[in-house]
Amino acid sequence: MGSMALNGGSTNQALLDAQLELWHSTFAHIKSMALKSALDLHIADAIHHHGDNGATIPQIVSRVTIHSSKIPCLRRLMRLFVATGVFAVHHPPPSGSRDADADEPMYMLTPTSRLLVGSQNNLTALTALVTHPAMVTPFFELGKWLLHELPDPCIFKRAHGRALSLVNDGMLSDSHFIMDIAISECAHVFGGIGSLVDVGGGLGAAAKAISKAFPGVECSVLDFDHVVAKAPSGTKVRYVVGDMFESVPPADAMFFKWVLHDWGDEECTMILKNCRKAIPPREKGGKVIIIDIVVGAGSSDFRHKEIEALFDIYMMIVNGKERNEQEWKKIFLRAGFSDYKITPVLGVRSIIEVYP
Ligand code: SAH
Repeated sequence: MGSMALNGGSTNQALLDAQLELWHSTFAHIKSMALKSALDLHIADAIHHHGDNGATIPQIVSRVTIHSSKIPCLRRLMRLFVATGVFAVHHPPPSGSRDADADEPMYMLTPTSRLLVGSQNNLTALTALVTHPAMVTPFFELGKWLLHELPDPCIFKRAHGRALSLVNDGMLSDSHFIMDIAISECAHVFGGIGSLVDVGGGLGAAAKAISKAFPGVECSVLDFDHVVAKAPSGTKVRYVVGDMFESVPPADAMFFKWVLHDWGDEECTMILKNCRKAIPPREKGGKVIIIDIVVGAGSSDFRHKEIEALFDIYMMIVNGKERNEQEWKKIFLRAGFSDYKITPVLGVRSIIEVYP
C-alpha cells in the first residue's frame, strides 16, 4: 500500500500538506501575474460585455486579442481564475447538440472581478499599478536590501535609482472606492467640521468626495507643486502647494489617506506636530483623521491578517510601514495629541480620529 510508506501514513500526509502550503507561497506570483494578464487582455470587460449570463471562451475571444493557437492556454488560465475566485464558471448539462458551442462552459464575473469593470468601484488602475513591473521587480532584491544598514535607500530607490512618486490613476481609483465607503460608514467623523486639509492629498479625489458629501466643509489639498500642477480645475477644492514637513495650512481637521504609512515614526511625528499647530482645540472641532491600516484592529480572519502583513512588507518599497494600535499611539502622544479613536470599518483599513 502506497500510503504505508516508511514514514508512516500520517507523516506522509503531513509532509504533503506542508509541501502544499509551500507551493502556495512559492506560486503566489503566478496568481498575481495571471491577474495582470487578465487586465492586459481586458478579460473581465469581455465577460461583462456579454451580460449577466456570462460568456463562453469563443465569446470572450471575440473581444480579446489573442492568437488563435493560444485559445487552449486561455482555457487553462480561466481555470485558474475560477480556482482563485476571480471568475466563476457554469458548465451546461450535456446537450447532445452537434453545435460544439452549446456545451461550452459559461464564465461569469464574481464580486472580485466586478471591481475590474464599469465606471463605479473600479479598481483596475490600482491593480494595474501594484502588478506593474516597476512595482514588482524591486521585491526581487528584498533579501539583499535587508543586508544594508538603515537609513538605506528604500527598495524602490535601490531598484530604480529614483524616489517613487505615486500620483496617478491607481491612487485615484482607490480614493473613489474607499471614500464612498468611508463617507457612508463614518459620516459622523466629518460632521461638524468647518474646514479640512487633505495632507498629501495628491490629485484631490478624497477631498472632492468629502466636499461633495459635506458641502459645508471647506476642503483643501496640500501637496507638492508638481502634483498640484496636475490637479483638475473647476472644483470647489482649493489646492495648496507646500511641504508637510515644513507646515500645513490651518483648518479644523487634517486628513491623511495612505500617507503616514509611507513614513517612519520620526517623520510621522514631525508631520503630526505640524498638524497639532494648525488645528484648534478639541472643543472647537480640532482633529486629525487618518485612513490607514491599524494592524490587528479589524477582523482576525487569516486572509485579513495575511493582507495586513503583506501590506506591511509592501511598504518597505518606500521605507514605510503598517502600524498596530500601540505604534500609532506612540506617535500620536509624541506629537502632542491626547486621545484617539480607531474605527475599523474600511476592510483592511481603519479610520482613526486623533484629538489634541
Ligand atoms: N492621499 C492620496 C495620495 C497618497 S500618495 C491618496 O490616498 O490617493 C502620497 C502623497 O503624499 C503624494 O501625493 C505625495 O506627493 C505627497 N507627499 C509626499 N511628501 C509630501 C510632503 N513633504 N508634503 C506634501 N505632500 C507630500
